[in-house]
Amino acid sequence: MQVLLIEDEKKLASLIVRALEDQGWKVDVAEDGFIGKSLALVNKYDVLVVDVILPKVNGIQICQELRSKQIKTPILILSALGSLDDKLLGFDHGADDYLVKPFEIKELLARLKALHKRSEVKKSGEKLQVENLVMDLEKKMVTRDGQIIILTAKEFNLLEYFVRNHGRVISRKEISEEVWGTSIDSGTNVIDVYMNFLRKKIDKNFHPKLFHTVVGMGYILQENYENQK
Ligand code: CA
Repeated sequence: MQVLLIEDEKKLASLIVRALEDQGWKVDVAEDGFIGKSLALVNKYDVLVVDVILPKVNGIQICQELRSKQIKTPILILSALGSLDDKLLGFDHGADDYLVKPFEIKELLARLKALHKRSEVKKSGEKLQVENLVMDLEKKMVTRDGQIIILTAKEFNLLEYFVRNHGRVISRKEISEEVWGTSIDSGTNVIDVYMNFLRKKIDKNFHPKLFHTVVGMGYILQENYENQK
């Protein structure tokens, strides 16, 4: 399980990290809200643990922004603010659970496990979306602008990886390790061949163009890429 902890109290953060790592979970820590939010937007986590009072961007704003961007990772809020109104504010902005400080680490672990289990179930109907590209992970179906695009299983996996990491440059090496699960001999051009197939299917007859080549680096899936360079 991959966890992102956004917590500015260093002592508490390291205590939590140790407990989660003892469970065999991988933990990233962000000490301010801006970095935390950015990590949550770019990486795929199973659960987010978010403090409320944080430098730069507070925990409630983080929930709100992630949810507005269709990021549905379960969020547990950790806060010293324990009134009913505080909790309701968190839930209203997309939090899934709320734990008041101080708390027992055991309770945090139990709640994270429960959250993760719930989200695994929910995931069976999960859809991913970038612009007018929609991936239905349950039906293994891809549409753009409502039109069905037929992909092979490999192309589907490749696209899913790009969609989950959208806005980030992905190198050929990363593609081979993450999508093929192996390091493909760099002398072959298997990945470029697959990328060409996929790009044609996804972008040729549709706007905006989502796939872009980043010379010398790899590929990126992003809307409005030309404007942002
Ligand atoms: Ca804090």
